[in-house]
Amino acid sequence: MVKLAIVIPCYNEAEVLRDTAAELTAIYADLVDRHVIAADSFILFVNDGSTDTTWPVISDLHASCTCIKGLSLRGNVGQQNAIMAGMMMSKDRVDAVITIDADLQDDATKIEEMVMRFEEGYDVVYGVRESRKVNGFFKRNSAKAFYRLQELLGMRIVYNHADFRLLSRRVLDELSGYEERGLYLRGIVPLLGFKSATVSYSFKERKAGTSKYTIGKMVNLGVDGITGFSVKPINFIIGTGCLFLVVCFFMIVYILWSFFMGRTVSGWTSIMLSMWFIGAMILLSIGVIGKYIGNIFAEVKHRPRYSVETFLD
Ligand code: UDP
Ligand code: MG
Repeated sequence: MVKLAIVIPCYNEAEVLRDTAAELTAIYADLVDRHVIAADSFILFVNDGSTDTTWPVISDLHASCTCIKGLSLRGNVGQQNAIMAGMMMSKDRVDAVITIDADLQDDATKIEEMVMRFEEGYDVVYGVRESRKVNGFFKRNSAKAFYRLQELLGMRIVYNHADFRLLSRRVLDELSGYEERGLYLRGIVPLLGFKSATVSYSFKERKAGTSKYTIGKMVNLGVDGITGFSVKPINFIIGTGCLFLVVCFFMIVYILWSFFMGRTVSGWTSIMLSMWFIGAMILLSIGVIGKYIGNIFAEVKHRPRYSVETFLD
């Protein structure tokens, strides 16, 4: 029988946590009753440095049910690192881990199907969202464009899959060797190359509270996702640079020709335009290069990704 850990990252989720715990423990109890998962499986809530009462609620839930464990991180390290903390804490105690968001937008009833796939021999089971009707126009389309962009940049990603997934212990062992800071699990897991399956479900409305992903956090995740996996942006800069050199050559010919023909009076507009355009291009290029150098800087430090404060076992 599969010994399973369900890991839930929680950042300021006090409003939704009790509902989520009730739903998950019901599913858990049912799966244990029907011998789908082992009785010593557990649910682990990871408190990602919340500033509300999330941790007291988790402690309370831990006291009320032996199947609930809690892990509290000292600061807000972001969803990806919180998930990693929970998975690494569970790794040596279970056969597989399923990660799911605290707001239960992903369909927790699919946990059983994921376990089935695992029993059939799949090391990775991706939860895939069938529709995004509940998301607003902006979130839906920005997410869509981002999946496409990643494909365009040659990344191996699973379309419409976020962080609802099952990973076997073998995968977790492998994953523990990935020590990068800008963690982007959606990019790493397919790279590991384990046998994988997908389980699709319809995406639901958030149960309570508001999204904990601010625009800033979303952009950061996106930038990490791309610069952590693809060097195509750098190649693009080099390509653009070459193109500009060619254009520049023709411009020199044209400028010299104009000079010798005595046609050099006006032209303020074109000079200003090109100045601004080239200036912008240079700034943009330096920015992208800076981002990669920034990544190198962050990686060489090998700092721990999180710091555990308490573990309720
Ligand atoms: N989350 C986290 N740390 C953060 C931001 C979010 O652990 O800094 C968790 C959050 O509690 C939730 C999951 O990540 O369980 C997904 O966040 P949310 O549902 O707010 O994002 P959305 O679904 O709106 O993209
Ligand atoms: Mg959500």
